[in-house]
Amino acid sequence: MRISELLKEKEVTVSCELFPPKKGSELKKAHDLVREMAKLRPAFISVTYGATGGISEHTVNLANEAQNVNGVPALAHLTCASSDRGKIQEVLRELKEHNLENILALRGDIPEHVDFPLPNQYHHASELIEEIKAYGDFCIGGACYPEGHPEAESIEADIDNLKRKVEAGCEFLTTQMFFDNNILYRFLYKALKKGIDVPVIAGIMPVTNVKQMKQIGALSGSLLPQRFRMMVERFAEDSAALKQAGIAYATEQIFDLIANGVGHVHIYTMNKPDVAGAILGNLSEILRCK
Ligand code: FAD
Repeated sequence: MRISELLKEKEVTVSCELFPPKKGSELKKAHDLVREMAKLRPAFISVTYGATGGISEHTVNLANEAQNVNGVPALAHLTCASSDRGKIQEVLRELKEHNLENILALRGDIPEHVDFPLPNQYHHASELIEEIKAYGDFCIGGACYPEGHPEAESIEADIDNLKRKVEAGCEFLTTQMFFDNNILYRFLYKALKKGIDVPVIAGIMPVTNVKQMKQIGALSGSLLPQRFRMMVERFAEDSAALKQAGIAYATEQIFDLIANGVGHVHIYTMNKPDVAGAILGNLSEILRCK
């Protein structure tokens, strides 16, 4: 099912994300993970593509596993910073062969110590989106950044670029993680004012260990509110307590979002179906509520 249709059909959706293994020998374990995730019946499962600048040989495989084996719509990420136009065409062909119609089109992180872009590469996600659109009949999503993308001059400039992405054919957006819902609400007003009216899926990251918190600072630059830092500091030495607190924090963010009319939520599950399951369990009545 096309994700744009799914978001229109349902007022509230919760989706999950997983990242593929680097080695083919770990695929069997990854298939088990997809099965576990699918049992939670998320609205869709997204599968990342070579995060931090690489490519991925297994994204299509796992997206196929989610959708065609386990019956949950899949969203395959595709980045262009580490792939040339030929590789992109190859992945699009593979997606078509597996009837996978949903793509999250991204520039990706620029790999270190390389010239970017080379003549046979796309500069921005908007160019990749145009290419996918020309290829035909995919439902295309893109990324957005409630605190502004780290390379952008300002949040306003970033939103102008986001508008280009939507005009290029992006039918929905998924946000970078954020830990203070007010940041998202402010961003949504600004985006709407610029005429960005496609559905925005709020990306929520349950932080369940100290290492993750350090990575968030380094990778996304997301603002970590005092309340959040205190939680991590207080329970840092007790992994079970921190996990429970992280699940509670993410749950609270999600029900506040739903109560304020932001009905589409994506959980950055970090390949942890138990964490996603605990959050969904906490929200069971809220998700049923009309
Ligand atoms: P773009 O939309 O191209 O934007 C990148 C920068 O360029 C921004 O500063 C923007 O303001 C600017 N810009 C955009 N268009 C123009 C223009 N026309 N002119 C001038 N400036 C412009 N990374 C992975 O490697 N694999 C993944 O699977 C992955 N999944 C992600 C999922 C989500 C929901 C999010 C939020 C991020 C994900 N990332 C992933 C990280 C993402 O690839 C990086 O944040 C990357 O640095 C930017 O990608 P983008 O698609 O947002 O780029």
